Amino acid sequence: MANSTADMRLSGGHPALDLANTVDSRRGRWGPDFLRSFDDLLVLAERLDLVDQQAAARLRRQAENDAPKAAAALADALTLREAIYRLFLSEDAGEPHLIADLRLVEDWARRGRAHQILAANDAGYAWTLPFDDLHQLVQLFAIKAVDLLMERDRRRAVRECTGNNCGWLFIDHSKSGRRMWCSDASCGSRARIRRFRSRVKGT
Ligand SMILES: [Zn+2]
Repeated sequence: MANSTADMRLSGGHPALDLANTVDSRRGRWGPDFLRSFDDLLVLAERLDLVDQQAAARLRRQAENDAPKAAAALADALTLREAIYRLFLSEDAGEPHLIADLRLVEDWARRGRAHQILAANDAGYAWTLPFDDLHQLVQLFAIKAVDLLMERDRRRAVRECTGNNCGWLFIDHSKSGRRMWCSDASCGSRARIRRFRSRVKGT
């Protein structure tokens, strides 16, 4: 079983949802929490290809040299994560979002936008964060969350996994648009086994 951002499943289908999924379970029980240090956040960003090796090394050095700043960035990342979780959970539930959550995500994204530089890459040009400050990782995930919110009319819906002890969020790419599990191999197969066992017990 996974116990960190280094080995957790990335099944959200979007960086903002994978951030929300760093709480291993939100249904039945809460936790464990995979974001326990700034480095956990950095490892997640690296696995999602949001920061390159050089930027990651720079941020890691900064975090090691300034523990209070790293702790503050982690605390802000956790607050952002919960706002992102609630925003997309409300999308699945078809309920209105909390204005405070939207404002919080907006605020971090706006700060990130102010730091972005226009950089050339293989595909042309892109707005990129310079990653010269630990809080830019928080800003990065907020920008991603805003992107996902703004794509609502062009993308599939976000769903909450109905698996026992899961509750992860994911983009539903299924044909029917009614996928129930974040992963067919884990939550899906556990649910099938449970159904089978209760059937056997019943006969
Ligand atoms: Zn699940």
